[in-house]
Amino acid sequence: MPELFIDGTWRDAADGGTRTIVCPADGTEVATVAEATAEDAEDAVLAARRAFDAGEWAATPVQERSALLRAFADKLEADKAEVARLESLDTGKRQVEAEIDMDDIIAVFRHFADVAGSDAGRVIDTGLGHVSSRVVHEPVGVCSLIAPWNYPLLQMSWKIAPALAAGNTFVAKPSELTPSTTIWTVRTLHELGLPAGTANLVLGAGGTVGPSLTEHPAVDLVSFTGGVVTGRRIMAAAAPTVKRIALELGGKNPNVIFADADLEAAIDNALTAIFLDSGQVCSAGARLVVEDSVRDQVVDEIVRRAGAITLGGPFDPDAETGPLISGEHREKVEAYVARAVEQGAEVRIGGARPDDPELDQGFFYLPTVLDHCSADMDCIQDESFGPVLTVETFAGEDRDAAEDAAVAVANDTIYGLASAVWTENAGRAERVARRLRHGTVWINDYHPYVPQAEWGGYKQSGIGRELGLAGLEEYRESKHIWHNTRPAPAGWFRR
Ligand code: NAD
Repeated sequence: MPELFIDGTWRDAADGGTRTIVCPADGTEVATVAEATAEDAEDAVLAARRAFDAGEWAATPVQERSALLRAFADKLEADKAEVARLESLDTGKRQVEAEIDMDDIIAVFRHFADVAGSDAGRVIDTGLGHVSSRVVHEPVGVCSLIAPWNYPLLQMSWKIAPALAAGNTFVAKPSELTPSTTIWTVRTLHELGLPAGTANLVLGAGGTVGPSLTEHPAVDLVSFTGGVVTGRRIMAAAAPTVKRIALELGGKNPNVIFADADLEAAIDNALTAIFLDSGQVCSAGARLVVEDSVRDQVVDEIVRRAGAITLGGPFDPDAETGPLISGEHREKVEAYVARAVEQGAEVRIGGARPDDPELDQGFFYLPTVLDHCSADMDCIQDESFGPVLTVETFAGEDRDAAEDAAVAVANDTIYGLASAVWTENAGRAERVARRLRHGTVWINDYHPYVPQAEWGGYKQSGIGRELGLAGLEEYRESKHIWHNTRPAPAGWFRR
């Protein structure tokens, strides 16, 4: 069955082009899918435009829109193991992790089903009895939804669910490396009765299909999750037609540990913060920022435990984490570590490919700890998006000086996606959390999130918010309607 979905029809690429998807854990072929041309992408945009202008989905009662999102969540719940398997094969991540992702996606669809009809607008009291003044919400229009490869369907669900809840039409473009679960999603939405042209799917390289999705005048909004360099490009592409843009970009996230923390919990979570999914998490706690007085105790234990992490493929019951997404990405991580060493970092553990012959065919890289890092080094300023933890320290003569020092180190990058603070002092936890310039701050925890709370970045980690209520607002326009029930001449100009 062809894999591009345009105007309610499955089709091949216009030039017959295809791409082979391989499992990063062992290099085996997973699927061969259509690789769209620029013309295919333009067709998809125009189909979404026609469908939006015809107005069928936007005019569907919000209760019915919510019901479709719920039906999708139910179907995913029923097919969870199968869809998680597709995700694992594309990404190489462990099936158990992919199943957790599926639970999160189900919750995302249910959240947006819940809130779709919760805020119909508001009435303004003008004080004029003959005037009705109100603000109503309307869909933005045609949305281009562009997602990365690390959480392929999760990131896409943060876009598709609110876009549909608000009554938009869309063109989805998953990462060219990980299309399988988005294909499943669009197929399922179609089977559940979404009107033709409402959901469209193009697969392919960003450079080929990206321009139609980000520049075409028929597109009203571009919602993008990916790297900051691509994000800047997309912002520029969207500028001439002044599109709405929502950007979820990278992070270089500090995990701040004070000496008065529960160190056992802090150390254990520091490992999950960075080595979960081999560090390919936008909110990964890639920077350990630890108070100098406990640095040896904390870093030595993290190094010891990082050296014991078991790598393996999606269905290996002993594996604790998986491979990197591609050979090209692994080379980038290797270059990043080499540059860090050149600039003075010390490799305490890892810094190489595993020598286990069973992992030879996959793109594995050992959990790595780089010690003695500082803000002037590239490894602190740039995302590695791999299993690489950097270590920085801070110190202060008294309570306030220690907090000032920790905050200064933690905030010293262009990014502001997520951070954590570990301390048993509740006052300190609150003070520091408020001073961290990040869209999410965890206190004595790392990684949990709920779809009811907004997600997004300060500074160059992005523009706008996904999830929560703001994540629905991204996909809605507000219109003020002023209704004068007693029309009269304005009387401004002489008759
Ligand atoms: P990427 O920027 O290379 O690609 C992301 C998507 O954009 C892909 O689908 C790609 O094909 C597409 N793309 C590339 N060039 C394009 C163009 N010119 N026009 C339109 N689309 C284009 O990112 P990636 O390597 O797939 O993902 C990793 C990055 O994503 C990391 O930087 C990570 O931090 C970020 N990320 C952020 C969040 C968040 O919530 N902030 C979540 C996950 C990942």
